[in-house]
Amino acid sequence: MSRIKIGISSCLLGNKVRYDGQHKLDHFITDTLSQWCEFVPVCPEVECGLPIPRESMRLTGDPENPRLTTGKTGIDHTPRMNAWMKIRLEELAGENLVAFIFKTKSPSSGLRNVKVYSPEGPPASLHGQGLFAAGFTRRFPDIPVEDEGRLCDPVLRENFIETIFVLQRWRETVRTGGPGDLTEFHTRHKYTFMAHSPALLREMGKLVAAGGSGDFTAVREQYRGLLLKTLALTKTPKKNHNVLLHMLGYFKRQLTADEKQELLFEAETYRTGGVPLIVPLTLVRHYTRKYGEKYLARQYFLHPHPVELGLLNHV
Ligand code: SF4
Repeated sequence: MSRIKIGISSCLLGNKVRYDGQHKLDHFITDTLSQWCEFVPVCPEVECGLPIPRESMRLTGDPENPRLTTGKTGIDHTPRMNAWMKIRLEELAGENLVAFIFKTKSPSSGLRNVKVYSPEGPPASLHGQGLFAAGFTRRFPDIPVEDEGRLCDPVLRENFIETIFVLQRWRETVRTGGPGDLTEFHTRHKYTFMAHSPALLREMGKLVAAGGSGDFTAVREQYRGLLLKTLALTKTPKKNHNVLLHMLGYFKRQLTADEKQELLFEAETYRTGGVPLIVPLTLVRHYTRKYGEKYLARQYFLHPHPVELGLLNHV
């Protein structure tokens, strides 16, 4: 798999572009994720022509349509930012990004919960969106986005990383492939998708069945829409538990009563928060290898992302 192309707020990479000349280096991104990702850094404030250091900024006015103004002197940088954004977003369209990671709470880059101040001073809303983040999500509604604050949450982090790996596989196989590639992609992700939404998995399955006849390009586009919808639904212990029980069904004949009991116990302990997902998953992986269960061995649910990321130890 080639590197996954991710857009990112530049200061998260350690670039000293913030208003105070500092950065907001995120070690998980630069030390760990960078092994599998290629980053396209964007700093809206510097790229639109503002200096380093500069006066800090904030969102002001109508929370639905805020202005980007300097905090003390009240200079309105909205026109400058919008003019730059118009060009930069078209450049980013050519980058073919798989996802974007934004800096939290920034009036330019914040994805959610950015304060919008009223002319009188106090925040009129706590739920604004930075100007660039808003422009990006409008221009690219299909590109998954997250902010580095939410990526500190183990569940959201695992979900996001799983998503970018699935989408990269999609790009490298199905996007330029034929019906056989779509079937293969769907088959290998069956339990991954079930963990997000059994209902959407069924809908996707129907499309795959129709893929061989009729307009394949249209089928592929519809499938892609469902894929994004599916991945956007966060997995839960209850949904993962359901998948584990389905997988247990593959070993009905091979496992002893004791072994079945152990697997059921670990799955239930996981569901109720006693152990992380990696515990029952390791047992399923073990039996998959031991009994040569070929269908399960190819399921990405058992190996969603590189083991070095250690993400399944925390969900
Ligand atoms: S939050 Fe955005 S605008 Fe602010 S320094 Fe980081 S990349 Fe630049």
